Amino acid sequence: GLRAALDPERAYELDRRHVFHSWSAQATVDPMVITKADGPYVWDRHGNRLLDFTSQLVFTNLGHQHPAVVGAIQEQAATLCTVAPSHANGARSEAARLIAKHAPDGLDRVFFTNGGADANEHAIRMARLHTGRPKVLSRYRSYHGGTQLALNATGDPRRWPNDTASTGTVHFFGPYRYRSAFSASTEEEECQRALAHLEQVIALEGPSTIAAILLESIPGTAGIMVPPPGYLAGVRELCDRFGILLIADEVMSGFGRAGEWFAIQRDAVVPDLLTFAKGVNSGYVPLGGVLLGEAVYSTFAQRPYPGGLTYSGHPLACAAAVATIETMERDGVVAGAAELGTEVFGPGLAELAAHHEWIGEVRGTGVFWALELVTDRASREPLAPYGGTSPAMTELVAACQRRGLLPFANANRIHLVPPLTITEEQARTGIDILDQALTAACAKLG
Ligand code: PLP
Repeated sequence: GLRAALDPERAYELDRRHVFHSWSAQATVDPMVITKADGPYVWDRHGNRLLDFTSQLVFTNLGHQHPAVVGAIQEQAATLCTVAPSHANGARSEAARLIAKHAPDGLDRVFFTNGGADANEHAIRMARLHTGRPKVLSRYRSYHGGTQLALNATGDPRRWPNDTASTGTVHFFGPYRYRSAFSASTEEEECQRALAHLEQVIALEGPSTIAAILLESIPGTAGIMVPPPGYLAGVRELCDRFGILLIADEVMSGFGRAGEWFAIQRDAVVPDLLTFAKGVNSGYVPLGGVLLGEAVYSTFAQRPYPGGLTYSGHPLACAAAVATIETMERDGVVAGAAELGTEVFGPGLAELAAHHEWIGEVRGTGVFWALELVTDRASREPLAPYGGTSPAMTELVAACQRRGLLPFANANRIHLVPPLTITEEQARTGIDILDQALTAACAKLG
């Protein structure tokens, strides 16, 4: 039978019979069947409508079923579904032009991949070949993807069971004032000490062994820690001083999420390589890529780049990217995201924090926010352990869902990451539901 029209109970049964799930003990998996989606809403198999404050895995930046993107995929499918990557095609050429147009200055060439992890794998490969050096430095509390090297570079618990063949990855602490690794009490102190720490790690590892520093411009899944002003510029300066390349991972933070086309533009810093995926086409068809600056590009001007993918720049994915970016331009989606941050999420969540003891810190920008939940504000004891969960977190998520909100939960945090196109009213509704759910869950388990 046709997949989309399959009876939802049957879809669930077949899933449990045949589908092997990501990051899960298979016997415990209990997926929500999504039968329908529209803008910021999804419907489950019982007919419940949920306001999607996750953008799935933070990728439906334009919401679900955007007609411009659906139309572009249909039109491209009717014209030319696929070609080998060695050929040129209009969808890929135009997607590359539009991505380069909005990228930091000088990042003018695009290598397309299928998603974020392989974008990071290729960026690291490029950096190693360009510098002739083996190591990659990345921060604790980061996520760079589910393939071997991208996981070695990752700084969250998903790395642990996969760190069997760690190839030249070294971790350092980034700025995170709420749980400072440097006992800093101000943003400035945190920034200075984090940079001094990184400089020491570089010195002790040996600058001549380090190809790249790989950094999410704003760490996403790890907790949306917006870096203090000056941090990214400081990292850029260290990279320049020691001949190290800066790779900005903008897989989650890019394409408007942080209120700029790319989050690193908040600090006017230009990386040597920038990786993207997710929001580039709202995730309608898998797509990622690496943006290259002139220096790395020149390395491969006369010498072949030893890497490639069957679907590098798939026409359906690139057509979706063109339509996504054109829609973002036409509708002022990036400025709208910035405004939602300053007008709705910033004040709305500060208000929430004033009423709920569980909220230890609110942080974010644009449509990229996290609530750090604690059992005790003084000790900052997390409401769930690092990399784990707790009855209180489970109850909070359930309380949100019962009230029609799909929240993004990670350890002791709730992330508020809806589509950038959400209306102010919908955003307020989501915050109100979270308010009620916090009251209910805290009354039960607080
Ligand atoms: N980098 C970051 C910052 C991410 O958030 C993710 C995915 O969540 C990835 C890389 C990996 O992307 P993908 O799952 O498309 O391989």
